[in-house]
Amino acid sequence: MITWQAGSVVKKQQWHDDLYTITIKTDPLPFKAGQFANIGIESVDGLVYRPYSLVNTPTNDLLEVHFNTVSSGRFSPLLAQLDVDSPISVANRAGGLLTLDQVPEERNELWFCATGTGIGPFISILRGDEVWQRFNKIIVCYATKTASEMAYYDELNNLKMQYPEQFRFAPFITREAVKDTLNTRFTTHLESRELEPFVDTAIDVNSSHFMLCGSSAMINDMTEILEQRGLRRHSRQEPGHIAIEKYF
Ligand SMILES: Cc1cc2nc3c(=O)[nH]c(=O)nc-3n(C[C@H](O)[C@H](O)[C@H](O)COP(=O)(O)OP(=O)(O)OC[C@H]3O[C@@H](n4cnc5c(N)ncnc54)[C@H](O)[C@@H]3O)c2cc1C
Repeated sequence: MITWQAGSVVKKQQWHDDLYTITIKTDPLPFKAGQFANIGIESVDGLVYRPYSLVNTPTNDLLEVHFNTVSSGRFSPLLAQLDVDSPISVANRAGGLLTLDQVPEERNELWFCATGTGIGPFISILRGDEVWQRFNKIIVCYATKTASEMAYYDELNNLKMQYPEQFRFAPFITREAVKDTLNTRFTTHLESRELEPFVDTAIDVNSSHFMLCGSSAMINDMTEILEQRGLRRHSRQEPGHIAIEKYF
């Protein structure tokens, strides 16, 4: 059974028509960077809730949630209507396998592949110290339809300057041609063998680990391509190379 704690919205940022980040104050929630928690809103039909990845680091008590609204959806339009001081509930347990303790010891290169709001858990990991201490290379492939939907772009771009040897960022904008970004899907770029030279990192079954987050379409396509390259799905029982989180 889910136990809920009461919280309130302390900040709301709108990136695009239907794209937001809200910050929530609640009792401290123990979680690992990359995990999600259920967020609930009281409606006329009772409490409605959905899982959302946490973008803040576990050491920051203010919870950050990055989301888009689905116009036909039950919960996300309610979430988008909240404003500063609105009440909101947060489940007191977090979950999910997109965490660094799930990456086998011998891996040196960590790939984060996100579509849309799927960038959230990776931002949480990138804001911590462990990832920079542990991996030789960290590669972010991040796809959105338009440039204005590419939330956290400046934060990711700044990491390129902070970690010029260790960090590679491949921004993909699929419906606009934008300077310094790639105008294709990253699955297409990977299949055509252009992605690895672009990020200056070869995929290797011994040293690469992938975390995929966002749409099922991207995750299914990426998994298929990576399996053809000899990588395997990761689970707690059978450690592999590809950890996934499907949002829809
Ligand atoms: C583990 C987990 C973590 C998640 N984390 C996030 C997150 O950090 N940010 C976030 O925005 N969403 C996240 N989601 C999706 C989120 O939980 C909701 O499903 C989403 O916000 C839609 O809820 P809804 O009630 O408005 O729509 P629903 O009534 O639940 O769904 C309506 C329809 O919209 C589709 N749909 C669901 N999500 C999307 C989407 N993002 N874009 C387009 N279509 C969609 C569903 O497949 C369904 O067909 C996560 C989902 C899971 C399983």
